Amino acid sequence: MQIDPTSLIIVNVANLLVMATALPFIMGQGLSPAASHARHSLFLNAAAWICLLASSLWYGQAPDLILSTLAMAFICASEWMVYRALEGWLGPRPLRSLLRVLVWIMPVGYALSFSSYPVRVGWANLVLAAQLLIVARACLYPSSRDFGRRAWRYPLFGCLAVMAGFTAARGILGAWFTELYPFFRAPTPVNIAALIGANTSLVLGTIAILAAWREEAERQLHKLASTDTLTGLFNRHGWTMQTRHPLRQAQRHGHPLSLLMLDVDHFKRINDTHGHETGDAALQFIGQLLQRCQRAGDVSARVGGEEFCVLLPYTDATAAQAFDARLRAELMASASAAGLPCALDFSCGHALYRTAGETLESLMARADAALYRAKNSGRGRLVLYEPLAG
Ligand code: GH3
Ligand code: MG
Ligand code: MG
Repeated sequence: MQIDPTSLIIVNVANLLVMATALPFIMGQGLSPAASHARHSLFLNAAAWICLLASSLWYGQAPDLILSTLAMAFICASEWMVYRALEGWLGPRPLRSLLRVLVWIMPVGYALSFSSYPVRVGWANLVLAAQLLIVARACLYPSSRDFGRRAWRYPLFGCLAVMAGFTAARGILGAWFTELYPFFRAPTPVNIAALIGANTSLVLGTIAILAAWREEAERQLHKLASTDTLTGLFNRHGWTMQTRHPLRQAQRHGHPLSLLMLDVDHFKRINDTHGHETGDAALQFIGQLLQRCQRAGDVSARVGGEEFCVLLPYTDATAAQAFDARLRAELMASASAAGLPCALDFSCGHALYRTAGETLESLMARADAALYRAKNSGRGRLVLYEPLAG
């Protein structure tokens, strides 16, 4: 059976171009930055192969140098785009600076060593293999808490690692066993295997990209469903989800935990006197205030019109009072600076986690009862829930 490398390259280029063009239709317009980077990587990869094929028309002449160097630059840029896409989907990735250096020096070194086939082929393929390994590694490390779900990383890692292997083999053969790899379209076993690998990786890699994109869309949807659009805090759904873990921890380890329920005092008056927009600005301001005052691990949410809840793990009655005092001091200090044309104050009900079987609902019910007492005893204060005697 005869397998012709040039045909394999042409099929690869056609697939790359079709995939890159079709992605916005499949994924919808307005791609996320990560998905756009993935798409650009396909275009750049196609451009690299087109330049490489075209360069062979002027073998050994000036256009060969220019087109081959351009091909190297495009292939490096393509790897950089895959890395950027991974950053978008998985957060900061390791070895970014090293990859950036390799992306720049590979085409430069290639152009400078162009007159020597073994040097330029060895250099270009080995540096490219190093880039592929960095991008492959970026699929897996560093991991994060919800990393287990992102199964698309493994096939993508596999594609990149396999391509790194083939590319390194091309580099070694080109540099030290030139007769086994005399030019990039030579029908040698390694070359044919690498080109079949490139085609297969493209199919598998594109599936992985689609899965990554779908996961990204799901995450955005989940965030949207958990966030209050006015204040940026969690909404009631997000609140219920986010408080599960700290409540379980308090139950298991028996450490103190406080729940504060805040309600803005006479908020209706603010709306009536200054208008609904000022009311909205006041709610946004309270949201920012809570975010500023809370520590890592605290959970704040807007649970009703002008009602907010804060869950404070590792917080006993004294520490919760200190948090409330900090909120009030910060409110006094910054309300007028925030451009609000009215005095803002709030009442606060406080419930302490008590029994092992306590639920979010029972805690909230007690905080609500304490809030009711705070309102009835003059507003603008914190009241700790105490069971009524008798
Ligand atoms: P109290 O001190 O007893 O809590 O009095 P209040 O006026 O704060 O409470 P009341 O329940 O009488 O009024 C709450 C008001 O909050 C009524 C409602 O129009 C307003 N509100 C609820 N959601 C929003 C919102 O998203 N934006 C604005 N601007 N107002 C809101
Ligand atoms: Mg209210
Ligand atoms: Mg109110």
